[in-house]
Amino acid sequence: MSDFLSNKAKSIEPYTPGEQPKDKKYIKLNTNESPYPPSNAVKKIITESNFDDLRLYPDPNVSDLKKEISKFYNINEKNIFIGNGSDEILAFSFMAFFNKGDKIYYPNITYSFYSVYSKLFDLKEVQIPLKDDFTIDINDYKNLNSGIFIANPNAPTGLLLSLSQIEEIASTNKNHIIVIDEAYIDFGGESAYKLTEKYNNLLVIQTFSKSRALAGMRLGFAIGNEYLIQGLKNIKYSFNSYTINRLSILAGIEAMKDKAYFEESVNKVINTREKTKVILKELGFIVPDSKSNFLFISHKNKFAEDIYIKLREEGILVRYFKTRLIDNYIRVTIGTDEEMNIFIEKIKEIIK
Ligand code: PMP
Repeated sequence: MSDFLSNKAKSIEPYTPGEQPKDKKYIKLNTNESPYPPSNAVKKIITESNFDDLRLYPDPNVSDLKKEISKFYNINEKNIFIGNGSDEILAFSFMAFFNKGDKIYYPNITYSFYSVYSKLFDLKEVQIPLKDDFTIDINDYKNLNSGIFIANPNAPTGLLLSLSQIEEIASTNKNHIIVIDEAYIDFGGESAYKLTEKYNNLLVIQTFSKSRALAGMRLGFAIGNEYLIQGLKNIKYSFNSYTINRLSILAGIEAMKDKAYFEESVNKVINTREKTKVILKELGFIVPDSKSNFLFISHKNKFAEDIYIKLREEGILVRYFKTRLIDNYIRVTIGTDEEMNIFIEKIKEIIK
């Protein structure tokens, strides 16, 4: 029989998204979504939107949403690129800034999609080990000979680099692209978008999926020098002109406009996170100081995989990575206070 698949399609090991089981209702603390709904303004615009307009293609340039982002950050629209989730922009970045066979640097423990993309686009990944406490030693990232990807805060650790540390990396690698994946930056970090005017090698990528509660709409954006943005556009328009649908555009605009709701829900997540950290430490967990909307935790005398399985049986989903170096940790998304209270009660029983 003929083999219809390319070597790539046959051999690549794809990214595994967090599970979405349908057998019962779970408390979902496994995919870092917002525990709060999107802004009411999003609901209003979607319910009142003109249904007939759906027969028309959306604006390929996504201008109206760019306008809102440019107002929010006080930057120029020409420095913004919008993608179907930040995953898509990450993928486009691999194509826009690297050639086949190039090296690409990132931490050995980070968002696992980077490694999948490296293989998909035939790059040579170089994984730089984190320190034993999971922190990034920025000295390892100075004066490298190819591009760098850094999630900040890092995932799944939640640990943050300061703006000045990001600047040190950008300034010591002026001839190489530095992509900062800021999916979780709003939960306690300072965005490096401010540095993109000064450093033309720096691209900052953010998402609407976490702090703006729109994971279901698939929206991300990048901020950077016009030349880098043009590179992303060249890839996008060689792939699919209409990556962002009409309803997502409307939702994104309203979510950006409603700054008060954004700040309120982010602050609620931060407060719950800090309370949860204290309790988990008291219960004997190692809890790195996450500045994201999740905690990466390990217990002194209970295996992470066992905790993950028991929580699942109890109707609580968390993320467990059966991967060397982190296989005794679980990643727990911060839910509402009520969800976290239930989580804590179950955890107490499990580690008893
Ligand atoms: N970067 C990191 C570090 C993430 O954890 C995620 C979420 N899985 C993404 C990017 C992608 O987010 P999205 O495509 O929903 O914008």
